[in-house]
Amino acid sequence: MTVLVLGGTGEARELARRLADEGRPVLSSLAGRVERPRLPVGDVRLGGFGGADGLVRFLSEERVAVVVDATHPFAARISASAARACPAAGVPLLRLARPGWGGEADAGRWHWTDDLATAGAVAARLGDRVVLTTGRQGLPELVPALSHAAVLARVVDPVRDLLPEGWRVLLDRGPYTLEGERALLSGHRAGVLVTKDSGGEMTRPKLDAARQLGIEVVVVRRPAAEPGVDTVTDVQAALDWLEQLR
Ligand code: NAP
Repeated sequence: MTVLVLGGTGEARELARRLADEGRPVLSSLAGRVERPRLPVGDVRLGGFGGADGLVRFLSEERVAVVVDATHPFAARISASAARACPAAGVPLLRLARPGWGGEADAGRWHWTDDLATAGAVAARLGDRVVLTTGRQGLPELVPALSHAAVLARVVDPVRDLLPEGWRVLLDRGPYTLEGERALLSGHRAGVLVTKDSGGEMTRPKLDAARQLGIEVVVVRRPAAEPGVDTVTDVQAALDWLEQLR
């Protein structure tokens, strides 16, 4: 019986690899948004399920024994689907979500906001040279407040939305180095960096670089976690949780 890993993160890929190493059948699911996704080892399926009802059908058709929701902390819709579908299908669900950066000691220059639109407004108040690392899909929410700013938006895939004249797009994908992040921020003469509270090590060097350069950081808070779902914060804990189900 298969472990379904809802993926799109480094943790999801690591979990799939470790399960495959143990010889357990694993199926990873990706949304299919990124043009050239980093594929996990083992079987992979791409694309949405058609909401919670579609996921319920999928779980029974594919004889899924257990689901690990290892999606990104900001992928709230798929997590909500999993939290509804798994109990309905009688399939155990674990949430694997890396810790956020909320506990950082050096957060003096950090400005927390609840959503992207507010992050744009706060960033506009803090400076007119801004680096955005909040992802392609959310760019339209940032445009109104930052339409007159000099913005460098770093994204994985090309942007199809029409962006203001003063905006530049940089296509790149982590993991990033401290040196590279320093070069990016100073090259743009950035006064402000906007990020989601994604957590993890892969995208952390930008925070260290911003601190070293005295740059203001606007951090978008995570959406609320789904209540009542067992949650762990690292891959080993997920494997331990799966083991005690056997
Ligand atoms: P989302 O808003 O939660 O999901 C939108 C819809 O995409 C879902 O309702 C679902 O469609 C489908 N979907 C999402 N993740 C899926 C998965 N792993 N497998 C199958 N279908 C999936 O998600 P998002 O924020 O657009 O993120 C999409 C993917 O990118 C996620 O898998 C996430 O792990 C990854 N990612 C997201 C971010 C971010 O900042 N949001 C950053 C890095 C990676 P149906 O309703 O039709 O099932």
